[in-house]
Amino acid sequence: MATIIDGNAIAAAVRAEIKERVAILKATRGIVPGLATVLVGDDPASAVYVRNKRKACEEVGMTSFGYTLPATASEAEVLALVQSLAARADVHGILTQLPLPRGMREDAVLGAIPLAKDVDGFHPSNLGMLGLKNKRAAFAPCTPQGCIELLTRTGVTIAGKRAVVLGRSAIVGLPVGLMLLARDATVTYCHSRTVDLPAVTREADILIAAIGKPRFVTADMVKPGAVVIDVGINRIDDPTRKSGSRLVGDVDFEAVEKVAGAITPVPGGVGPMTIAMLLQNTLKAAEA
Ligand code: NDP
Repeated sequence: MATIIDGNAIAAAVRAEIKERVAILKATRGIVPGLATVLVGDDPASAVYVRNKRKACEEVGMTSFGYTLPATASEAEVLALVQSLAARADVHGILTQLPLPRGMREDAVLGAIPLAKDVDGFHPSNLGMLGLKNKRAAFAPCTPQGCIELLTRTGVTIAGKRAVVLGRSAIVGLPVGLMLLARDATVTYCHSRTVDLPAVTREADILIAAIGKPRFVTADMVKPGAVVIDVGINRIDDPTRKSGSRLVGDVDFEAVEKVAGAITPVPGGVGPMTIAMLLQNTLKAAEA
């Protein structure tokens, strides 16, 4: 049976460390880390994400500044807001909640965030820098960084390992593969056009699943003893639950935990790490 990697416990430990460092920064240099959130439109899920991020900031002693623009706002208005936040000394990190309304260029908005305040790590230059050997991006994106942190904090050696990343999106798959590569893993990416995917995933010592397909990774796709990090968050019907549904990952947890050496659950694996890494990036921005 696999060891369960407890993302809730690891995220709580990270937050406690951050809270302590925030207090030290305040006491020694009079700096209170500040995160500005920019939400455009009225997507209820995005509003919940932003609320949770702001609450997490306040819990560790940081300040959060929330800005909401209507879905009808123009790209120029969003850019003007980002530029005004970029100039403020009390704002150390700027986060633009994605997705932006249709028609607004994500690259233009993300590219307007100064690299030193890009705590989400989605600025095209920060993303590109992840792939350059001997360079470290100012900030790595939070979910991929959370995956790396789960591996390192559970004592998993990355260097020299075969790592397979399922998914190549700009926010998860691509950056997490680049980060594993920078840590000397031998990395293979799989995607919707990969031929004989199970043969590839079976070679992985470290398997990262980030495709958004409920319980896609089955036991026969996993090498015995592999470390499996499940990024997926998928809601499926479950008539036994009062709500009628429940969350599952991209991995068939019950079957794969019998084969893997270690595995993250969903919920309670990668999910809680994402916000913890956002706090870590914001603190780093303020300390710099
Ligand atoms: P995207 O939809 O942007 O990307 C999915 C990727 O999976 C694509 O690269 C796609 O390939 C690949 N893919 C899709 N179907 C298959 C298949 N059948 N076989 C092989 N590859 C496939 O998703 P995201 O990266 O944004 O998110 C992935 C998952 O992670 C989702 O469940 C999401 O909810 C979750 N997530 C969790 C977070 C957390 O905090 N824990 C944060 C962000 C996301 P192709 O490129 O060829 O289309």
